[in-house]
Amino acid sequence: MATVLDIAKHNPNAATLAVSDAARAAGFIEKKAELNVVAGATPGGASLVGLTRDQLKDSLFAIGVPERELKMRVAQLWHWIYFRGAKEFSEMTNVGKELRAKLAAAYTLARPQVVSEQVSKDGTRKWLIRMASTGPLDKGAEIECVYIPEVDRGTLCVSSQVGCTLTCSFCHTGTQRLVRNLTSAEIVAQLIVARDSIGDWPHATPPEGAFVPNDGSRFVSNIVFMGMGEPLYNIDNVIAAIDVMSDGEGLTLSRRRITVSTSGVVPQMERLGTEANTMLAISLHAVRDELRDELVPINRKYDIKQLLDACRAYPGLSNARRITFEYVMLKGVNDSDADARELVRLLKGIPAKINLIPFNPWPGSKYECSDWERIERFSEIVFRAGYASPVRTPRGRDILAACGQLKSETEKLRARARMMAEQGIGAEGVYALGDGE
Ligand code: SAH
Ligand code: SF4
Repeated sequence: MATVLDIAKHNPNAATLAVSDAARAAGFIEKKAELNVVAGATPGGASLVGLTRDQLKDSLFAIGVPERELKMRVAQLWHWIYFRGAKEFSEMTNVGKELRAKLAAAYTLARPQVVSEQVSKDGTRKWLIRMASTGPLDKGAEIECVYIPEVDRGTLCVSSQVGCTLTCSFCHTGTQRLVRNLTSAEIVAQLIVARDSIGDWPHATPPEGAFVPNDGSRFVSNIVFMGMGEPLYNIDNVIAAIDVMSDGEGLTLSRRRITVSTSGVVPQMERLGTEANTMLAISLHAVRDELRDELVPINRKYDIKQLLDACRAYPGLSNARRITFEYVMLKGVNDSDADARELVRLLKGIPAKINLIPFNPWPGSKYECSDWERIERFSEIVFRAGYASPVRTPRGRDILAACGQLKSETEKLRARARMMAEQGIGAEGVYALGDGE
């Protein structure tokens, strides 16, 4: 993407390594991340949308709101921004005219720009979102966010980074060269954009013909951190974003309906459980270290035993709060009966669900998806051992809304869409869904 490349030209800290198969084969585990972006809003037209309570407090203090009023003012803004979805300060009728004018002079309630919205025949929606510029050399990072509606729930798949520093060999996002962490506000803003777009605010209505849950629940009822990036490499911002998303006076997402997926950043797992208290998903994908070293190279740092020990110790783990193990089905690579039996043996004693993911091919990928009969057989072995083993239903095929295929460069995306259409390759937009309550 031009944006990030522009930064790279001028930023000595920008990653300079391209991820080739050769580099991967040579033991290349991760790329260097871009600089972190400073969080919060300073007066001068910055948006307050996505900020934490503390950041809102600082923003109000910066425009002269007296200390003794701060708590009350934050509560008012919080309600308008996160409960009602206000887009203008003028809507905030219980905030005095004078303060509203001050707020409007210093800040905005702008959302990140929606560059494109694609709607699948099955109702899945994918947005390409451009974040606000972070400086003169940045035209705004682009990320993708996917909404998957079902009858009784609506799941939003959010990104935690632009690109990913890790280099899993079957994942397209891992080939993206330049990476930066999203701020907590940028993570929260993905939910705001989704709610705007599908009319998920009090008094709002969904667009004509939109597919949304019809059981009376919120249209976005679940969140999965399964878009671009490794959430546990951006854990501070992910935890702060989850705090905002799950706040009972605002966006009110249940923490039990938020699932964070990790490739296995073992040292951060306990902190996620303790501080975010969300559901956990593990991208396992292989049952032997030799193979996992290749598929999920972070395994060379934290091997399968260390990973599963950390799972056993995950705070709050119980039969009611199982860990989801994700397992991508790669033809002839990890899909044998012996692999299925070993999987069952490894997970013994861990309250678990196993999610089998049909591999989503991307141009240049060296793997194929296992045949359907093979996936069924694998699933059967896992099921007989007592585990729920749903195969993720392909969603959003026609709009390339697929796991591991998200890659934000607009131009490449268009080129890829064209190429895949020409080659007749469909993308399977499939995401593991936390059970929730
Ligand atoms: N970085 C985190 C979360 C984002 S990836 C992680 O790895 O867990 C979300 C899920 O999509 C992971 O389970 C990942 O392994 C899977 N995935 C990546 N590429 C895929 C592909 N091409 N086909 C199917 N699933 C893929
Ligand atoms: Fe990163 Fe997850 Fe893709 Fe691995 S699978 S490269 S950790 S996004």
